[in-house]
Order: sequence, then structure tokens, then C-alpha cells
Amino acid sequence: MTRASSNDVRKALGFDTTQYNFWCAVHEAGHTISTLALGGHIRYVEIRRGPDGLVDGGVSVDRRSHDVRFLPVLHAGIEAQQVWMEQTHLWTPRRMDIVRASSRHDLEVIERLAPASAQQEKNAAHARQHVTQKWKKTLRIAAALVEHGRLSARAVRRL
Ligand SMILES: [Zn+2]
Repeated sequence: MTRASSNDVRKALGFDTTQYNFWCAVHEAGHTISTLALGGHIRYVEIRRGPDGLVDGGVSVDRRSHDVRFLPVLHAGIEAQQVWMEQTHLWTPRRMDIVRASSRHDLEVIERLAPASAQQEKNAAHARQHVTQKWKKTLRIAAALVEHGRLSARAVRRL
């Protein structure tokens, strides 16, 4: 998601700034929780605040966490946003389309590394499991990201 379009995405979602920022943060929290569930190493996770006060984000992982074993991680941002919207009664098909459109980068990598749809479904289900099994921690990571902007691996472990 590019910073310039953040406000357009927020408006398309029909979210206020607080909802939008949490929606972005929970995406990164999903990537984080899935990396950890698979025994991966993160360096830090962050959301970057643009001049409009809206956010964009990323997770920096250790080189050892770039492996085909970690394919579910690519799905976990989308899955976390989906679960959050379901739980807060904000889920709509249109918002789900926006989740996918704004996760274009993840989806491009998925297409490149695992083009088979059966494999993608399996990895997505796996990611959803990571997120739902550690849902409270996923929410704590997202909340801490909104508050602090960036979390070290150590800070994430302590949450
Ligand atoms: Zn992502």
C-alpha cells in the first residue's frame, strides 16, 4: 500500500482514522504472529505514519525466515484483517476486496512462489490458524504498533 493512497483506501473502507490505523496494524501483526508460529525470526515490525496521519507498514524478518516453509506468513496479514473485521462486525465483501487490493504485494509474491490454488488455500488456512490460535496476542501487537509505531523482536515477545 503506498502512503499517497492511504486516505483513499480509508475512505473506500468507510473507516475513521482509528479504525483504519488498527486495520493496517493488525495486518502487520498477522505477518508477525505467523512468522513466530513457524519458528521464524523477526527483526522488527513497524507501521509508518504518513503526513496525513495515516499508516503503512512492514515486517522485517531474518534471512533464515525466507523459506518455502514460511509461505503461510504471506497470507497472514490478509487473514488477520479478515478475522478482525469479522470480530468487530465490520466485515463486508467490498472491504474484503479492498483488503486484497491493498495486499497486492503479498499476493504477487504468493503467485510467484506458490501459483497452485490448492497450495494457496492450504497456506491461507494455516495462516488463519496461527492468527486465531494467538488472537489476543495478535491484537496486543496491533495495539502496541498503533501506540509505538515500531516494535523490536524483544518487545513483541514480551506482549
Ligand atoms: Zn502484508
